[in-house]
Amino acid sequence: MQDRKSLIKTKDLVYEYIRRDEEGNVENLTEAVSHVDLEVQPGDFIAILGHNGSGKSTLAKHFNSILVPSEGTVWIEEMDSADEKNLWDIRQKVGMVFQNPDNQIIGQVVEEDVGFGPENMGVPTKEIWERVEESLKTVGMYEFRKYSPNKLSGGQKQRVSIAGVIAMHPQCIVLDEPTAMLDPRGRKEVIRAVRALNDVEKMTAILITHYMEEIVYADKVFVMDAGKVVMSGTPREVFSQVEKLKELRLEVPVVTELAYELKKAGLPMPDGILDSREFV
Ligand code: ADP
Repeated sequence: MQDRKSLIKTKDLVYEYIRRDEEGNVENLTEAVSHVDLEVQPGDFIAILGHNGSGKSTLAKHFNSILVPSEGTVWIEEMDSADEKNLWDIRQKVGMVFQNPDNQIIGQVVEEDVGFGPENMGVPTKEIWERVEESLKTVGMYEFRKYSPNKLSGGQKQRVSIAGVIAMHPQCIVLDEPTAMLDPRGRKEVIRAVRALNDVEKMTAILITHYMEEIVYADKVFVMDAGKVVMSGTPREVFSQVEKLKELRLEVPVVTELAYELKKAGLPMPDGILDSREFV
């Protein structure tokens, strides 16, 4: 068993996608997650960063038992994610938001959509409405509660998806590239909503992304490459390793790179400049 009470802990986690032919022989094997050890403490804002195909999504799917390990163990609180009897409890504790909001919204009206999750959990009607109101307010979508979701922008839809998850009162929300399909404005809205959830509501948040600028507000960042966690630390620690980030095919923000180059050229710049305000 684990020694500390983390919300999520993985030990030597390996996940292999296996493709078989008609006879059941293994045709192809991809080790998408390779010996990952990490811990998430309650209240953390974690970012998992990596280019496409680095294993982020496969890792994230272990956090609420959509996938179970090929090797190693994942615990949610003290529950082994591979034990089927824990599935319901794990899904209650950890909610997931995916890339495409159109696949997640099913209601004809925003407030109805947000109410589906708690309804399925058997929450009493009066409380469902309280939760819907509170969740929509948290993501700044309360004024759109009577709208049809297909009248909303991508960023607004994604915020409704987030409200739908938080209405189920999970302890942790995992967002798997929630901004990948959004324009810059939508991306900002969603990141702001995630920050508010973590800051104000104290919800543990795990943000999967390949956008460097989205990790700035995280408490801790894990950087993945080829299924492994290859860097971890605060955003500043990660941002200060410009060469390594570029090797990992991550796009370093212009200001971070400029500060890095200026420092190399002899100017007394601090390491790990996060944004233009700091740069100035
Ligand atoms: P990321 O989220 O960082 O883009 P993924 O976890 O989606 O990475 O993918 C990691 C690796 O696993 C990639 O090589 C990808 O091609 C492979 N992979 C992902 N999903 C599947 C699947 N359903 N079947 C087979 N291979 C997969």
